[in-house]
Amino acid sequence: MKELRYLDDVSTLVLDPDKCVGCGLCTEVCPQAVFEMHRNKAHIVDFNACMECGACVNNCPSEAISVGPGVG
Ligand code: SF4
Ligand code: SF4
Repeated sequence: MKELRYLDDVSTLVLDPDKCVGCGLCTEVCPQAVFEMHRNKAHIVDFNACMECGACVNNCPSEAISVGPGVG
């Protein structure tokens, strides 16, 4: 089955790298593999795959991520 995709360029996902403490939890909880760790910081590698589920926001210990309720 093709990977599930959602609407392009509508996600409200925002990552503040200055707040990221490099715990890696967002890479573990995201069901869409939106994040990858590089140099001990999270990076958004597949922005348009985000379905705004909020799992990353709920697990990030440093409030480095924000996302609005799903519109996509
Ligand atoms: S809101 Fe959900 S799908 Fe989007 S980046 Fe966070 S965990 Fe992944
Ligand atoms: S959960 Fe938050 S602090 Fe941890 S790696 Fe992801 S963005 Fe950084």
